[in-house]
Amino acid sequence: MTDPVSAPTHPIAGLVARVHERHRDVKDGVVATYIPELGRADPSWYGIAVATVDGSVYQAGDTDREFTIQSVAKPFSYAMALGRFGGERVQGIVGVEPTGDAFNAIALDPLTNRPFNPMVNAGAIATSSLLVTGDPVADRDAFVATLSAAAGRQLSIDEAVFRSEVTTGHRNRAIAYLLLNAGALAAPVDAALDLYFAQCSVKVNVVDVARMAATLANIGTNPVSGAEVFPSGAVRDVLSVMFTCGMYDGAGLWAHRVGVPAKSGVSGIIMGVVNRRLGFAVWSPPLNERGNSVRGLRASADLADELGLHVFDPLSIGASFLDAL
Ligand code: GLU
Repeated sequence: MTDPVSAPTHPIAGLVARVHERHRDVKDGVVATYIPELGRADPSWYGIAVATVDGSVYQAGDTDREFTIQSVAKPFSYAMALGRFGGERVQGIVGVEPTGDAFNAIALDPLTNRPFNPMVNAGAIATSSLLVTGDPVADRDAFVATLSAAAGRQLSIDEAVFRSEVTTGHRNRAIAYLLLNAGALAAPVDAALDLYFAQCSVKVNVVDVARMAATLANIGTNPVSGAEVFPSGAVRDVLSVMFTCGMYDGAGLWAHRVGVPAKSGVSGIIMGVVNRRLGFAVWSPPLNERGNSVRGLRASADLADELGLHVFDPLSIGASFLDAL
């Protein structure tokens, strides 16, 4: 196993540092302010991490600083629901169709009367409702424990962000009532929302997210600990829905430009997964008009180009750079 700290000359370490440096001075984008805690983020915060399925991590920039995971929680709660209930039950409550709408659209698929997919708020709230057991502390703990196992360290919830989400999340409350009305909520509104908000409020750093992505890339098994965090069948379903729906209404441009399953969150985090190879994460709070991190998009596109990650790259069959090492 390569230790990036003791092997700073490894080609990927140098590449990650160069990509980080290239976009450091970007001034575009606006930090999310829909809850005060997120609005306090410094626009200059910026970190990149790449975690391979052999357990190595390469990183640059603000890689220790913690932020809340926000919507990058969505693929993981979907994976948990698939693991617990199987595809048929989960698809009875949330579909797998992309939507060109914003992440917080108050809309259901008119044909099915279900949320379009689990990567937008409506679908994630429906997914969370499936994970409600009636014991809110146990439900939160189970989610935090799963993310911790995927990241390989103990994580926790940012209680200030959680409370802020609960008190200001009126739009999500409206979505939950729409789901209730449609018969697409498997738990009471408050219980489903509390779990959903807790999921969004887990504190992580960019290395944690890259390691979680590497766990997905490694078909559900944490590459370092060997813990089987998600069942392999669930991972296939999660990655396919991330590929088509993970980047809000910017999913098409992402698929075109970067070409790997991904998920972004309003704290400025973007997570990408290269099946059986690596996970990467870029974090920087300023967002574009579609809610995706500006530096995150630019750095991810560079990583895809320079590591040959795009799934349809004519010069590679995924991660050709890694093959050459
Ligand atoms: N907690 C946020 C919300 O539900 C998550 C949004 C996001 O990261 O896309 O509004």
